[in-house]
Amino acid sequence: MATEGTHRFYRPSGRVEIARFVGCSALAVALALLLAAVMHVSFVNGQYFVFLLPLFLSILVAGIGKWTIVAGHCRSPLWGVALGLLLGSVMYLGYYHIGMVHESGVQYVHRLDLLPSYIEFRVTTDVMEDHSRPGAGSTGQNSGRQPDVFGWSRFWLEYSICLGFPVCFGFVRARRPYCERCGAWQTQRQAYFPEGIGPALVRFDSRAQPARSYGLV
Ligand SMILES: [Zn+2]
Repeated sequence: MATEGTHRFYRPSGRVEIARFVGCSALAVALALLLAAVMHVSFVNGQYFVFLLPLFLSILVAGIGKWTIVAGHCRSPLWGVALGLLLGSVMYLGYYHIGMVHESGVQYVHRLDLLPSYIEFRVTTDVMEDHSRPGAGSTGQNSGRQPDVFGWSRFWLEYSICLGFPVCFGFVRARRPYCERCGAWQTQRQAYFPEGIGPALVRFDSRAQPARSYGLV
């Protein structure tokens, strides 16, 4: 808690339960890789809906990140943002990495150095197809494997979508009130009582729950 004028504002302490946070993050990374595999399988089966699939999975990976922050007691918005960047990147770049290993063989699994050129290859040669007119994309303007001028815009836009939700969720969730004394996230409840009963209620309850704080309106 910090005092500013007459109001008291909650400020996140920036602390993290490092062992729990790292453990949960490892699990979250594994789940993000699983979502990357979902993207890859969708792509191979022609079910990769441009923008829509990354959007949907980005919300899922953001939920995984949110759980990591809660379970890892992460009160650092900076770490929340870093986790979001990590999970979004693992999912979207992992999707290309799985594609590279799928096409080139499992012996390339550690060759992350080849990933940028593989992404460039994919971005400039992937062909979009209109699902209402199957085959239209591959027989249209892109049949000559001309560089797709929208390829890079599509890549960066999809990448931003994959980062956007986990980063925002991470930042917001890590700033939620946390009681450093109890070592727990704070919850908020609202109840209505008859007028004038407030002070008596606080007196009564503060004997049982000294740490509890009240906002009386
Ligand atoms: Zn407490």
